[in-house]
Amino acid sequence: MSHVFPRHTKSDLPVAAGGDGCYLIDADGRRYLDCGDAAVSCLGHSNPAVIRAVQRQVEQIAFAHTGFMTSEPAEALADLLVAHAPGDLDRVYFVSGGSEATEAAIKLARQYYLEIGQPERRHVIARRQSYHGNTLGALSAGGNAWRRAQFAPMLIEMTHIAPCYEYAEKTKGESSFDYGQRVANELEAEILRLGPDSVMAFMAEPVVGATLGAVPAVEGYFTRIREICDQYGVLLILDEVMCGMGRTGRLFACDHDGIAPDILCIAKGLGAGYQPIGAMLCTDQIFEAIRDGSGFFQHGHTYIGHPVATAAALAVVRELTERDLPERAGVMGQKLQSALEDAFGQHPNVGDIRGKGLFRGIELVADRETKTPFDPSRGVAGKIKKAAMAEGLICYPMSGTRDGRLGDHILLAPPFIIEDAQIDELITRLSKAITSVI
Ligand code: PMP
Repeated sequence: MSHVFPRHTKSDLPVAAGGDGCYLIDADGRRYLDCGDAAVSCLGHSNPAVIRAVQRQVEQIAFAHTGFMTSEPAEALADLLVAHAPGDLDRVYFVSGGSEATEAAIKLARQYYLEIGQPERRHVIARRQSYHGNTLGALSAGGNAWRRAQFAPMLIEMTHIAPCYEYAEKTKGESSFDYGQRVANELEAEILRLGPDSVMAFMAEPVVGATLGAVPAVEGYFTRIREICDQYGVLLILDEVMCGMGRTGRLFACDHDGIAPDILCIAKGLGAGYQPIGAMLCTDQIFEAIRDGSGFFQHGHTYIGHPVATAAALAVVRELTERDLPERAGVMGQKLQSALEDAFGQHPNVGDIRGKGLFRGIELVADRETKTPFDPSRGVAGKIKKAAMAEGLICYPMSGTRDGRLGDHILLAPPFIIEDAQIDELITRLSKAITSVI
């Protein structure tokens, strides 16, 4: 009997025993094309540079608490991230994962307003159909109804506006641009409703991942969001935990939108799975308010800035930037999109194929014309996940995320080193899996 408490307590999982590029290998020697371990393994599973960096760091010094000492890899990684980061994001606060990054962002926003003498600012506005993590603050910010449901009485009060979800919510006759402006303006309406002096932050994913399946905003949406935040002195927190670190074809997803947030959260691809690590980047304005005020960000975890985790991430970011891997993700992502459209574009149960770079989503529907989702009791996405595993494909189907009408999606997030032949393999295996279920 296994004593591990797994996510799905009734599941019987294969044992991960090895990795080879884009493939995970189980203890029986079966190879799985990894196209969706939650968008983590951007470099595949056997990157020699990252493995060596981890080995070297463990041998040199594995741990020193950041309350007492900094470390060479943490300093170098912060320098490298800042050199590539958009806007004035000049300070990096390391954490161990995505939820810790978003949680820290919420607390940083609150402390910033306390430091500058605006204690009445306490509201966070986020979006429905979003996911920002599973700790209670991050879960409060997320608008994923299914993930929130059982913990609702324990969540912090935050309000949610519409996401930018063109496929499902743009009205007939409305242009994409007008739709984007309309939903962005919901932020202004919500700020006014709550009282402009009481709102501290707006949080959003530039490309929605784990709730909608790779949904980018339409052009102009984030420009308008940035404008509204500036007008009302509301901090813009972008959650790029899933879509950041090159996955969309640029190192940071917001680079596509030509805007920069006040706080940026990253994780997943930052450590590429070689170490658990996340980070929160913020502007000097925020940092200086704390430095010149209380002098202490009242937050922290034992493992922030962990030397081995930062050494791994430093090697990852060097690989990404020196080998132009985000650009490669952009090119291969276009090929993946075309291959998905060729294979599934006419499928009666495929409503939409979308995304950016190597971050792609397929929305499954019971009826293409009306965009009606499958009945959740059918558990379509879960069955496809299982069928795909049986075909030797790891993808990330999601269901149960409906807020009234949203249904089943398959998220695809392969490593940036994926080759043409592996895209063909992905399509073949996914077709078999989908056909066996619907
Ligand atoms: N934000 C986003 C956008 C995510 O996709 C996730 C994870 N799926 C998180 C936050 C939470 O990250 P973690 O699971 O590392 O805590």
